[in-house]
Amino acid sequence: MINIFGQTLPEMTEMLMEWGFPKFRGKQLADWMYGRSVTDFSVMNNLPLKMREKLAAECVIDRALRVDQMDSSDGRTSKFLLNFSDGVGVETVLMRQPYGNSICVSSQAGCNMGCAFCASTLHGMVRNLTAGEMLAQTYYINDLLKQEGAKVDTIVIMGSGEPLTNYDNVLKYMRLMHEDYCLGMGYRNITLSTSGIVPNIYRLAEEGLPINLSISLHAPEDALRSELMPINRKYPMAEVVKAGAAYGNLTHRRVTYEYILIDGVNDNIKQAEELTDLLKGQLASVNLIPINPVVERNWNRPSLKRIGSFEKYLMQHNITVTVRREMGNDIQAACGQLRNRHIEEN
Ligand code: SF4
Repeated sequence: MINIFGQTLPEMTEMLMEWGFPKFRGKQLADWMYGRSVTDFSVMNNLPLKMREKLAAECVIDRALRVDQMDSSDGRTSKFLLNFSDGVGVETVLMRQPYGNSICVSSQAGCNMGCAFCASTLHGMVRNLTAGEMLAQTYYINDLLKQEGAKVDTIVIMGSGEPLTNYDNVLKYMRLMHEDYCLGMGYRNITLSTSGIVPNIYRLAEEGLPINLSISLHAPEDALRSELMPINRKYPMAEVVKAGAAYGNLTHRRVTYEYILIDGVNDNIKQAEELTDLLKGQLASVNLIPINPVVERNWNRPSLKRIGSFEKYLMQHNITVTVRREMGNDIQAACGQLRNRHIEEN
């Protein structure tokens, strides 16, 4: 059986034409599957019966199944554990922000990047997700929102996985999301977050997609960054920042550097100074993320005073800076925790 959820219009049209159906049938199929979110061929009543029977015999529209859900007490953040047909599960998060509904999509089941602060990597990586599986996460939430007369407004590819090591599938997903026959999402509403896979940052810059790029930095010098993010041994910080600068220059898009603030580890003023030196003159901004406490490592969130001092130093030195407002702490919003609980229980 061919899973056609995740196929582009030209791919579907080619298949249908090989079966002897006219070209315009491809668009009709896309309208049902992507436009109206229908998964059952038998209800696609403007398609000839012969075509519906052939589709049902050869193809499936395989979406995601909800296994678990957690809602924050304020009702604004919901985390879903979604399973695909092979039983592999991923987390997808809906955040109802003042500026619209934002979702955090996973690009791999698990992750093998080994970041020290991240629960998604504890069980390693199971496999890459296909474009259709990323799309299925998006449609699952979009269908929910539709019932309230709302939709998914922005997407961050920041769930489990390193999107730039699943490059082709992630690119296909973003392009599909942008298509009018799919959700017609503006590229500017899509953010891809990477741990710093240098060659693919350059490659992405050449694609000409005006998406937002976010790079996880988390430390202003190599020794600490390697400790927090082992990928730094392969792609050292200076190379990552150089690639980020090239991305900004080529695309004229401001690159965001993510910086998790850990009390007494990377939040002192000397480190703010090093960070400033590193990013000086770049089309860049810094997003400070006070960490959710990690008990196993005795890592704590810095005091508001320390967060404020770090932020102020960057601002005073002309670095654009934001501090991420925490959402959904009470539902373990840190990526990977819900999925891990299920893996461990089973
Ligand atoms: S932070 Fe991202 S890249 Fe690092 S281990 Fe977690 S999912 Fe992977």
